[in-house]
Amino acid sequence: GLKKKEVHVLCLGLDNSGKTTIINKLKPSNAQTQDIVPTIGFSIEKFKTSSLSFTVLICQAKADTETSGNITTNIKHRRLPILFFANKMDLRDAISSVKVSQLLSLENIKDKPWHICASDALKGEGLQEGVDWLQDQMQ
Ligand code: GDP
Repeated sequence: GLKKKEVHVLCLGLDNSGKTTIINKLKPSNAQTQDIVPTIGFSIEKFKTSSLSFTVLICQAKADTETSGNITTNIKHRRLPILFFANKMDLRDAISSVKVSQLLSLENIKDKPWHICASDALKGEGLQEGVDWLQDQMQ
């Protein structure tokens, strides 16, 4: 078949926010890991959508400030699309994606396309919407 265009994605977020679970859910079911262990440092994962092949670097944003500092400096001047997941929306005290975007002042991001989705990575809800958006941005 046609070779999919390869793109690279950085997945950043606080420890325990669900990064590994999200990426795992995006893989085909036969490639999904049953037991997710906490990510130490960073890991490399791959998944595909209809037209793209994604390579994901997962960094621990909090624990690894040196890495995330370098990343931030690196992406600052590029028009890279940013997808936010307001994950764990199933929790009773979860706040809405609109509220999250206000709290993070996302409207101040004017030099990059961005999108926020509420997600429940355990059920896989909201993930497809986000990845569809990302795929559109990368065509
Ligand atoms: P990471 O440190 O960001 O990679 O977070 P993990 O993917 O390891 O997830 C941390 C914990 O949160 C695990 O126990 C997951 O099962 C749980 N988790 C991940 N996503 C969700 C979600 O959407 N809802 C709920 N309730 N728990 C989640």
